[in-house]
Amino acid sequence: MRRAALLFAAFCCVGMLFSALPRPAAAAASKPAKDVVYVTKSGKKFHRAKCRTLARSKVKKPMLRQDAIKKGYTACKVCKP
Ligand SMILES: [Zn+2]
Repeated sequence: MRRAALLFAAFCCVGMLFSALPRPAAAAASKPAKDVVYVTKSGKKFHRAKCRTLARSKVKKPMLRQDAIKKGYTACKVCKP
């Protein structure tokens, strides 16, 4: 029984250690640095970088979301940028 108690104590320590560590990766993922969207050569929509419809297009041009709207592009219905 003593060994089980020791193991339990060890798990508690490890858990506390991990919860105390900062998580920069999660914080960075939640906030995109800029409102950059991507347009294709022939399309009239703008997309997020990870959009699955972009995988088909060889040419994609990054631009700011507001510029894309000014140029007459509309938001993609798949990725909703
Ligand atoms: Zn899209």
